[in-house]
Amino acid sequence: MKYLSTRGRVRSLSFKDAVMMGLADDGGLLLPESIPQLTPGDIAALEMLDYPELAFQVLSRFVGDIPSADLKSLIDRSYASFTHPDITPVVHHNGVHILELFHGPTLAFKDVALQFLGNLFEYLLAERGEKMNILGATSGDTGSAAIYGVRGKENINIFILHPHRKVSPIQELQMTTVTDPNVFNLAIRGTFDDGQRIVKEIFGDLDFKAKYALGAVNSINWARVLAQVVYYFYAWGRVRKKTDCREICFSVPTGNFGDIFAGFIAKKMGLPIRRLILATNENNILTRFVRQGDYSIGAVSQTYSPSMDIQLASNFERYLFYLYDEQSGRVRDAMSELASTGRLAFTAAEREKVAQNFFAQAVSNAETLETIRDFHGKTGYLLDPHTAVGVRAALDLGDGQTPTVCLATAHPAKFGEAVQLAIGQEPTRPASLAGIEDREKRCETIDADTTAIKNYLATHAL
Ligand SMILES: *Cc1c(COP(=O)(O)O)cnc(C)c1O
Repeated sequence: MKYLSTRGRVRSLSFKDAVMMGLADDGGLLLPESIPQLTPGDIAALEMLDYPELAFQVLSRFVGDIPSADLKSLIDRSYASFTHPDITPVVHHNGVHILELFHGPTLAFKDVALQFLGNLFEYLLAERGEKMNILGATSGDTGSAAIYGVRGKENINIFILHPHRKVSPIQELQMTTVTDPNVFNLAIRGTFDDGQRIVKEIFGDLDFKAKYALGAVNSINWARVLAQVVYYFYAWGRVRKKTDCREICFSVPTGNFGDIFAGFIAKKMGLPIRRLILATNENNILTRFVRQGDYSIGAVSQTYSPSMDIQLASNFERYLFYLYDEQSGRVRDAMSELASTGRLAFTAAEREKVAQNFFAQAVSNAETLETIRDFHGKTGYLLDPHTAVGVRAALDLGDGQTPTVCLATAHPAKFGEAVQLAIGQEPTRPASLAGIEDREKRCETIDADTTAIKNYLATHAL
């Protein structure tokens, strides 16, 4: 399988080169040159595989340049860190199926992709005799999942900037209690936006970037999307066994359009997905896009589901490539229009095409808490606020016949404050968080200043 850029000026990359490139050199995002097509017979053969076997079957169709035994071992090691024997179990409550994606080391779905990406980076760096210094800014979930993805790995250092005292206590502890010598937590005296700006400025200094072999782990890496395609097939197999259904719907709480885009790829491969329900919080740009063809950037508002407090969805460009019938010239025009005007408009024909794949709903803060409370009252099952956004949309938009799977993207204990507000009590902590306050911590507090952070990198980089 070869890879190309949505903007058309990078082509014929191998899978391994696409992973190492991350963002395409022409500013676009990388995609496979064609999507592997599965017949109903192929899909039936995947239904009863366990998670690692299924991951191998799905991933190997997109990889091609890693020997099977190596790919299998990368997959096995990545999912051995999950605490549930099914990796991503499916449970059923109150008329919806819930795909629990939070049994990895940091209790959020990002582990599914970042455990794999960490192992893959280590494998490719060893093969090439190279080193990498990962640099990123986080508002919470991505930082800890990335840190757990590469902690203790050879030839990789990771530097994660988080705003000092401005991430939730649990999220901060999940990062700062990782004391492996290759992990550098930097608490900056500033905001998340300062962190993002600094990271952008440092990546923009191409000499510095090359000198220190800087790498990124944000959701634009193709390997992250690919690892997420697997659990759509997994959920299909489990729900089909239970209901003997012919089609399925998924409801996906969405921020950067990464997770739901993986579902779109699964559908393009032939998985019989009737509807993809795109659920947003009050940051509703993607809902406006699906419902009204209006993609215009607004101000970010803070909600109970902070990992979805995003306006510019970084993976959206991948979807535009397909919406524009794979014409990279049109993607280039659209991205420059978006950069200069802050909005994109769509024709009636394009909106019709979007409507064939997606339904969308924006869920308010009040509705999020109400959904956690109602669901808990009816079933005793506790939703985290991100998952609650998706469940609410599923309950409102389901067709009443097709089984609907809601992606549970975080464990409720990660967002205890919102849960407390909803049901008046804190969720029980899973074992991985027990006593986390008492563990040894490693974190440096530093000014939100690009030069100061560059100096820090220069001293501590591999
Ligand atoms: C990152 C995240 C999301 C949003 O995922 P995208 O791929 O950005 O759409 C949803 N829920 C949780 C808990 C997350 O950490």
